Amino acid sequence: MIDTASTERRNESRDPAKPETLDPENWAAMRELAHTMIDDAFEWLQTLSQRPVWQPMPESVKQHFESAAPKGPSEPAAVYEDFKANILPYPMGNPHPRFWAWYMGNGTVMGALADFLAAVMNPNLGGGNHVANYVEAQVVAWLRDMLSFPEAASGLLTSGGSMANFIALAVARNARGGTDIRHGGVRAARGPLVAYASREVHSCHEKAVETLGLGSDGLQLVETQADYTIDIDALAGRIAADRAAGKVPFCVIANAGTINTGAVDDMAALADLCAAENLWFHVDGAIGAVAVVAGSVREQLRGMERADSVALDLHKWMHIPFEAGAVIVRDKAAHKDTFCVTPEYLQHDEEGHGLAAGRHWFSEYGLQLTRQFRALKVWMSIKEHGLERFGRMIDRNVAQARYLGELIEKEHELELTAPIGLDIVCFRYNPGGLDTEALNALNQQLLIDLQESGVAAPSYTTLGETYCLRAAIANHRSRFDDFDLLVQKVLEIGRALAAKP
Ligand SMILES: *Cc1c(COP(=O)(O)O)cnc(C)c1O
Repeated sequence: MIDTASTERRNESRDPAKPETLDPENWAAMRELAHTMIDDAFEWLQTLSQRPVWQPMPESVKQHFESAAPKGPSEPAAVYEDFKANILPYPMGNPHPRFWAWYMGNGTVMGALADFLAAVMNPNLGGGNHVANYVEAQVVAWLRDMLSFPEAASGLLTSGGSMANFIALAVARNARGGTDIRHGGVRAARGPLVAYASREVHSCHEKAVETLGLGSDGLQLVETQADYTIDIDALAGRIAADRAAGKVPFCVIANAGTINTGAVDDMAALADLCAAENLWFHVDGAIGAVAVVAGSVREQLRGMERADSVALDLHKWMHIPFEAGAVIVRDKAAHKDTFCVTPEYLQHDEEGHGLAAGRHWFSEYGLQLTRQFRALKVWMSIKEHGLERFGRMIDRNVAQARYLGELIEKEHELELTAPIGLDIVCFRYNPGGLDTEALNALNQQLLIDLQESGVAAPSYTTLGETYCLRAAIANHRSRFDDFDLLVQKVLEIGRALAAKP
């Protein structure tokens, strides 16, 4: 038997009236510090546009993070001062109105506060009979309805798009692998399992098929058309050839917005093809799926509602603070059959009472057992703004992408390097008279100079041989004149570089 009394006595030895815990030693002082943190955070957010988008960290700051873990305590106020001096001034920059790199969201204030409240309540969303599970179930239902999926569909909030896509592909593999893959593994399949996507598909799918045991050959990349959408005739040809060669096609992955150029595959045509070929139809909607709430994009997304599964990112174009993604699966049984394992210590009484009751355990629909209360920030953000406002923010980004395109086409020294898909603009500085190699080098330096100027932060991509600047405008804080500033700065830096011998 554990001698709790003597353990308690030992802990109490510092001050018998106050047994040691991880709670504040001085609640009043901690509360005051918390108010200071909130005030500073609001000040920081409200003055974002007055600071550089990004700035490099001095060496001294990098070295600050090399010290060993402290053995003893520090005053909470001193820990916070350390944060203010060494962490807060060096952000990635994505909350800023002129951050357009990779593909990110800005965050929301309510989302940040909700993350605090979620951590205070600190529930575990693996399962159990407590309110947080109802919050997540409601958020999943909202997303399901947004996508026009049937009520019987299942879903799960995830860390992001990568995990959402992984979960969907795992279900697809088991559901359409042709044999009992769950128990026999991929070696039980009649031949090599193959999923298909366009060459523009996100790299997370390669990670997924490799970790699902299919090998990288288990993802076949299909040619695209001039607008970077999948070539459906080429896809049909590949499927037929692979079947003839004894392979087992099981899934087609559509892009609802590619990461390079925002191209949206013809999902209605892909849904037809998958129905005819009895293939799982998965949509990677990490970029575009949430745009079903935006009038300007909805028509392009036609066919997505026919998918077997959709992966969404809520921390991109819906701006929920990282991390927040989701997967919605039409066939709930197939979803659960892929992940449900119930050992004794996780037995739960579906109809009963007590803390372990509850019909729906989210841990039976994905890889994680312990899961954070990420649903709260989504729930509170959607309640605060309503879906229509999220739609208007998306519509405005689409309009801003077109506006930036117009500014680029007006300038002789700038050129668009791809059709503008959704909110992604690929372009480069091209003063004329330079070959591809020289232009690529010039634009690479231009991007670095632009980022170091702190004025704006696009990123880049390479399309064929062409290195391009890439502005992914998933930003609820960008204003139209931010793009005037971008073009002005690109021209200024480009001209200075072109003038160098
Ligand atoms: C970002 C992205 C992913 C990966 O999502 P994460 O949230 O970064 O894990 C997958 N597919 C597409 C199209 C993306 O843009």
